Amino acid sequence: MKIGTWNVYSILEGTFGLDGGSMFGIVPKLLWSKHHAPDENNRITMALRPMLITDGHRHILVDAGIGPRFDEKQQRIYRYEPADTGLVKSLQTLGIAPHEITDVIATHLHFDHVSGLLALDDKGQLRPVFANARIHIQDEAWNWAREPSQWDRASFFPHDFEVWEKELSLSMVQGDFQIAPGVRVQRTQGHTPGHQIVVVGQGKGSVVFCADLIPTAAHVNLAWIMAYDHKPLMTLDEKRVLLAQAVEEDWILVFEHDPNTVACHLKEERGKVLPGEAVSLDLP
Ligand SMILES: [Zn+2]
Repeated sequence: MKIGTWNVYSILEGTFGLDGGSMFGIVPKLLWSKHHAPDENNRITMALRPMLITDGHRHILVDAGIGPRFDEKQQRIYRYEPADTGLVKSLQTLGIAPHEITDVIATHLHFDHVSGLLALDDKGQLRPVFANARIHIQDEAWNWAREPSQWDRASFFPHDFEVWEKELSLSMVQGDFQIAPGVRVQRTQGHTPGHQIVVVGQGKGSVVFCADLIPTAAHVNLAWIMAYDHKPLMTLDEKRVLLAQAVEEDWILVFEHDPNTVACHLKEERGKVLPGEAVSLDLP
């Protein structure tokens, strides 16, 4: 999809399994299981879909998925399956080598969004995949990830951040910020401190990468909020504001974790905002 000078692609990095109840908070299983069928351990399959924004000069990656680096125990818990094509191979089909990625926007630092920034080398050491990229992070997200609470610390891989500090160029962002002309981040705080969504374009027809503010199309429903969220009522308000503007300006929402719907327009029926016509952001 072309937005101004930017081409926008969604890339399937892999899938993993998360507890269905955790993904939908207080929503009864009877309702959410119609959208996402659980396995024998109540896990549902979630996609890991980074987004690429490129004008041929700047190659901006939004998140990086998990990456094939799990040990046996993590693999058992999270049922991670890399996509056949994967992130690096998909970029190569566009003629982009990993070292040519100029920017990475980390929506937040939960491992399922950024652990793919590192890969194991032949000595078993974690090294940056996109070694020349500037990594754009909200400073609140960074500070929280370095000292998470006992409640959410399992969502972070602390050793990764030591490697990042040594080997990557980190760009700390505060609040809403323009990464490039027509590409901006917008801070939303309900999911975790310093979470940010990414908006490509201006006004009508913008593309919005919702990250964990609206992780799947089913979460367009205002009351469907993850149990992982720090401040669910703040998420509710942030979703309400985003969805109103998205309907008004016919934005395209991109869902990072939805295995079925990559992106869609919205529609309004009887005062309720619902997912509308699907949009393809496939690689050529
Ligand atoms: Zn998250």
